[in-house]
Amino acid sequence: MAKSQTPMMKQYYEIKAKYPDAFLFYRVGDFYELFEEDAVLGAKLLELTLTYRNKNTENRTPMAGMPHHAIQNYIDSLVDKGYKVAICDQVEDPKDAQGMVKREVVQLITPGTMMDEKPEQATENNYLTSVSFEEAEYGLSYSDLATGEVQTTHFDTFDSVFNELLSLQTKEVIWSGELTAPQQSILKKANILVSTPVVATQGESEQEFVSQRLTNNSELRATKQLIQYIVETQKRQLAHLQIAKSYEAKSYLQMSHVVKQNLEITQSSKTHKKMGSLYWLMDKTKTAMGSRLLKHWLERPLVLEKDILYRQNMVQALLDDFFTREEIADALKNVYDLERLTGRVAFGNINGRQMRQLGQSLSQIPKIIQLLDSSDNEFLQKYADEIVDLSSLGEKILTAIVDDPPILVTEGSLIKEGYDQQLDEYYHAMHNGTKWLADLERQEKEATGIPSLKIGYNKVFGYYLEVTNTHKDKVPERYERKQTLSNSERYLTPELKEMQTLILQAQTNSVDYQYDLFVSLRDEVKSHIKLLQQLSHSIAALDVLTSFSVLAEDKRLVRPQLTTEHTIAVEEGRHPVVEAVLENDQYIPNNIEMDEETDIFLITGPNMSGKSTYMRQMALIAIMNQVGSFVPAASAKLPIFDKVFTRIGAADDLISGQSTFMVEMNEANQALKHATAKSLILFDEIGRGTATYDGMSLAGAIIKYLHQKVGAKTLFATHYHELTALEQQLPHLKNVHVGASEKDGKLTFLHKIIAGPADQSYGIHVAQLAGLPKEVIVQANQMLQEFEGQDKAQLVEPDNQLDLFTAESLEESTTKTQTENSNQTNQQIINEIKSVNLMNKTPF
Ligand code: ADP
Repeated sequence: MAKSQTPMMKQYYEIKAKYPDAFLFYRVGDFYELFEEDAVLGAKLLELTLTYRNKNTENRTPMAGMPHHAIQNYIDSLVDKGYKVAICDQVEDPKDAQGMVKREVVQLITPGTMMDEKPEQATENNYLTSVSFEEAEYGLSYSDLATGEVQTTHFDTFDSVFNELLSLQTKEVIWSGELTAPQQSILKKANILVSTPVVATQGESEQEFVSQRLTNNSELRATKQLIQYIVETQKRQLAHLQIAKSYEAKSYLQMSHVVKQNLEITQSSKTHKKMGSLYWLMDKTKTAMGSRLLKHWLERPLVLEKDILYRQNMVQALLDDFFTREEIADALKNVYDLERLTGRVAFGNINGRQMRQLGQSLSQIPKIIQLLDSSDNEFLQKYADEIVDLSSLGEKILTAIVDDPPILVTEGSLIKEGYDQQLDEYYHAMHNGTKWLADLERQEKEATGIPSLKIGYNKVFGYYLEVTNTHKDKVPERYERKQTLSNSERYLTPELKEMQTLILQAQTNSVDYQYDLFVSLRDEVKSHIKLLQQLSHSIAALDVLTSFSVLAEDKRLVRPQLTTEHTIAVEEGRHPVVEAVLENDQYIPNNIEMDEETDIFLITGPNMSGKSTYMRQMALIAIMNQVGSFVPAASAKLPIFDKVFTRIGAADDLISGQSTFMVEMNEANQALKHATAKSLILFDEIGRGTATYDGMSLAGAIIKYLHQKVGAKTLFATHYHELTALEQQLPHLKNVHVGASEKDGKLTFLHKIIAGPADQSYGIHVAQLAGLPKEVIVQANQMLQEFEGQDKAQLVEPDNQLDLFTAESLEESTTKTQTENSNQTNQQIINEIKSVNLMNKTPF
C-alpha cells in the first residue's frame, strides 16, 4: 500500500487483512465506518452515502458510515445477501488509551451464525454446517447457535451430503477436504456459502465437551471443526452448546430433499413457504419451540415401533383427558421461546424484557406439571416426571426485573425495589431527593413570594430554580444566576448544588449497580443451562403432542394400527391438505387396500381426476403415522416404511439445471437402486418426458423391475393405457382407475378409485360431448377397438413370464427378489417392450 497512513488507518488495514472476505465495521466514535472496497460495495448494497477521507489528495480513501445504534439492520441486510460482517470495536476506553485506542474484532457474523430477531424467523432454525472429507468419508455436523443443539452424521457420497445440506436449509457450510469445481458450483447454485475452517486459538474445552460421545472419526472431525469455527467467530464462551448427538439416516424414515419437496412436507412446492404444506396443516402448537420441533419431526419421521407407539399413546391420552389437554394448551400459550431465551442467556445478549419472559415461562411450569400429575392417565402422569421444575429460578427473576423493563440493560429502570438492599439505599436517596426538591420548591415559593417559581432539570446545568421575568425583582441575593432565557432566568443555591450531587450520584450508582445485579442474575440462570435445555425439550415435545391431539379432533383423524405384515389397509383415506382447502366435505375419501400379494397399483384415469392426490394421500398418511400423529382415514392399518421415493410432477430441477427427463430418470433410479420391500414408491406419469414409445417402454420395464426385484409398495400412475395389460402377467400388480361419470351431457370426475383399468374411450367421450361430427366419433371408436385388440394380444405373455433383470445387468440392491426362469437381459426386454408397442397405431 503506497498510501501514507495515519495511525488509525494503519490499524484499520492491519485488522482488515485478517478478515479479507468480510465487511469490516470499524468503530470510530459513535459510528461504524467502512473503508476502501467495503465502502464502495457497502454504499451500494446498503444505500449509504459514499464519502472520502482526504478527498482532494492522492490518498483519497472511500468511506461510508453508519450510526452505531442502527447497525443491526445493516448487518441483517448484508448477511441475508450471503456476506460476512466483522464487528471491530474499541476495546479500551479512549480516556485510558495511550496513543491509538485499541480495537479488535469482537464478533464475526456469517449467514450460518446469524441469530435472527425477526418474528417470522421464530419458527425457523438457522443451521451452520460443517463438512470434513477424509479417508473417503464425509463427516457432517451442524448447529443452531440460537438453541445450541449440535448433531452429526456421516456419508459416503457428495450427493448424500448435498441432500442433507438442502434438507437442513443450511446457508453456510465450513468445508475441509476435497471439493471439486463442479461440486463448488452446485453449492453455489444452491446459495450455500462455503467457508474455510479457522485455525484454533482457543476453545479446546468446548470442542472436547461437545464431541465427547462421538466415536466415528469423520463425525469427530466435522464437529470439532464446527465448534472451532463458532468459538473463533463469536469470540466468547458458549455455555449452551450441547453435547453432539450422532444420528444415522437409517434411524429415520428416509426421504431425499426432493421427495420432501414433492410431497410438500414442510413447504409448498410452488411458493416454498410453509403455507399449503403438511407442516402448515398440522401445526397447532402454541410455542415457537414446539413449532420448530414439529418441523424437525416431519423432516425425520420415526422407524421404530416403540417410538411411534409412545407418541401415539400420548396423543390418545391427551384426547381421552380432554380437560387436561385444554388446560395444558392454555398454559403453553404463556410459555415463551424457552429454548432461544436459554441460548441468549448463554450468549450474554439477553435483555430485561427477555429475562422477564424467561421468568414468566418458568413460573408456568408447576401448573403444567400439576395438570399432568393429577390426570388419571398413566402416560400423562409419567410425563410429569420428565419436566424439570425451575420455577424458583423463575420467581427470582420476576422479583428482580421490573414489569416493563427498557430494551437496554445499561440504563437503569431494570431492577425492582426490594430485591437488593444496597440498591434500595440508592433508590431511597433518589426518592428522598425528589421529595426534598418538592419541599424546597414549596419553601422557596413561600420565602420569595413568587408563585410561579419552579424547579427544573436539564443535562447541562442539572437542577435549577426558574423564575419568570415578571418576578425577577423578587429574587433574593443568595440565588446565583446560571442561565438567561428570553422570558425567564435560572438560578442555583448552595443547598441545591449539594443535593444535586447526592441525587445524581445515587442515580449513577444505581444504574451501574443494576447492571451488575442483572449480570449476576444472568450468571445464576446460566448455571442452570443444561436443565433449562432439558426443560425446553420436554415442553416443546408436549406442545407438539398436544397439537397432534387437537388436530386429531379437529380433522377427524384416527389412531393407526401398526402392522409388521407387508400390507396396507386404509379405509376412507383423505389427503389432509387438499381436503382442508376444498369447500365443506367435498373431499371424496378413498380406500387403499394392498394385501401381502399386492405390491403395485397401476393407476389409470383422465387428467385431473385425482390420481396424483390419491398417491400423495398414501404418502402423507404414512408420514403422519410415522411422526406419531393420527391419520386422516376412517381406519388405518399400516406397516412402518423405511424409505419413501417419489417421481412426481414436472418441476425442473433448477439447482443442477438438468433437463426434466434426466431429473425424472435420476429420481426413478434412486428408487430402483435403493428401495427395499419395506419402502413406499410413488411414480406419477413416468416416461412422459420423452417420446411415447420410448417412455412407455421405460415405464413398462421399470414396473417389471419393481415387481420382480424390489417388492416395495408402489403406486404407479400412468396415462399409457397399454400398460394395464401387465396385470395379466404380473401377479403382484393390480389395475385401479379413477371413475368419471356423465350427467346431463357433462363429464364429472368422481375422484373415486375403483378396481380395474380406466375406460380408454374417455377421450372420445369428451370429443363427443364437445360435438364433433358423428362420423369422426364412430371411426375413432372403431380404431380404438382395433388397437385394444392388438394391445392385449401383444403385451401379454402369460405363459412366458420374464425375469428382465439378471444380476449382471443391473445393480443388485433390493431384498425381495422374485426371480423366475429366464436368462434374458435387461436390454433384450426393453427392446421387446419397444417392439410390442411399435404398432402401427398412431393415425392422428
Ligand atoms: P391427476 O393426478 O389425475 O391429474 P390430481 O390428483 O392432480 O389429478 O387432482 C386434480 C384435482 O382434483 C385436485 O386438485 C383436487 O382439487 C381434485 N381432487 C383430487 N382428488 C380428490 C378427491 N378425492 N376428492 C375431491 N377432490 C379431489
